[in-house]
Amino acid sequence: MSRSGSGETAARVNALREKFAKAYGHRPEGIWRAPGRVNLIGEHTDYNLGYVLPFAIDKNALVAVRRKSQLDPGSQVLDFASTYGAGGELPITSITVDELVPRAVPGWAAYPAAVLWALNQLDGVRIGGLELMVDSDVPVGSGLSSSHALEVATIVALDDLYGLQLTKVQMAQLTQRAENEFVGAPTGIMDQSASLMSQAQHALFLDCRSMETQAVPLPLAQHNAVVLVIDTRVEHSHVDGGYAARRANCEQAAAALGVESLREVHSIAELEAIADPVARRRAKHIVTENRRVLDAVAALRASDLGAVGKLLCQSHESMRDDYEISSEELDAAVEAAMAGGARMTGGGFGGSAIALVKRERIEPVSQAVREAFDHAGYVEPAIFTVIADEGAGRA
Ligand code: ADP
Ligand code: MG
Repeated sequence: MSRSGSGETAARVNALREKFAKAYGHRPEGIWRAPGRVNLIGEHTDYNLGYVLPFAIDKNALVAVRRKSQLDPGSQVLDFASTYGAGGELPITSITVDELVPRAVPGWAAYPAAVLWALNQLDGVRIGGLELMVDSDVPVGSGLSSSHALEVATIVALDDLYGLQLTKVQMAQLTQRAENEFVGAPTGIMDQSASLMSQAQHALFLDCRSMETQAVPLPLAQHNAVVLVIDTRVEHSHVDGGYAARRANCEQAAAALGVESLREVHSIAELEAIADPVARRRAKHIVTENRRVLDAVAALRASDLGAVGKLLCQSHESMRDDYEISSEELDAAVEAAMAGGARMTGGGFGGSAIALVKRERIEPVSQAVREAFDHAGYVEPAIFTVIADEGAGRA
């Protein structure tokens, strides 16, 4: 039975066990689950050591694993398979432990391989041959962090199987290292923290400098409201330019101000000292976004969903105009779904938007978005509600 309690996840767990047995000839030792996330507010603030407020969603990656040491003690062969996009026969990608070299593993297997590599960098840890199979229903490249769901499911599995007893903060840092150094995507600490540390029906308020967390109740049921995700189906990629360029802009702004990170800046008046107008605008987003996260936490605690909605809209404007990470499709989604507040979520340059919507308005709001997309000639978006689920664990 899945810990998330979802019947759908339980059925996927059983199906994955069968597929694993078919592909590898025996059952896995266990199956672990790690959710994707939406970020309610606090975008690109993580690598500026600021605040974020994501929550884990009821879409997750499942990873089934078996150590080869049981049947073949010396084996250094790592076998990876994923049900994603595969037909009947699941192709298996095999590499050896020696081939765990940063940037050298092509394709999707780089993500689980990255986690193995990061763990093997630790003193006293030596992960040898294993068989792994992934089944994920987190949409890929939609800004809901399918990559971290995969990495987090892998690290909780290995932590459990090898008795590593890593803390959640250590696992978050290791998966960040995996994605930054091995895969080569310069992402921050938010996504994996959300996947590891979230609690059901709560958002995760994370201070990315201290790594302290607070679970903030989401008063959605009281307001008969839901979080609607609008996946524009315009895939983004963080391995290429835009994300890294924003990071560089922020570092440049911090250097101009003589601070270690933009977290240390509290008012936009201080930003006048940044000569470069682009760096100044980027910094303005970070400084105002940190403030909006704190305001959103206070509004949630006061059960003032109207105030949260306004902050979402302000956040979107800031990302569109100052940080310049939105897209035509994301702007259209936010405009059409404005309802109780909406914003793009995740790294940007494509991906998904979220909207706070009253239950009875789900259909009309979805219809308005679909019509706006149709009118503009965009690809039909995928629109669905999400539930704030609990963080990763054994399935
Ligand atoms: P996001 O994390 O926002 O979904 P990324 O570009 O960071 O987007 O990560 C997407 C990549 O993660 C995919 O291109 C693929 O390599 C890998 N991935 C995610 N889910 C799966 C899956 N179910 N099977 C195989 N690879 C996956
Ligand atoms: Mg990702």
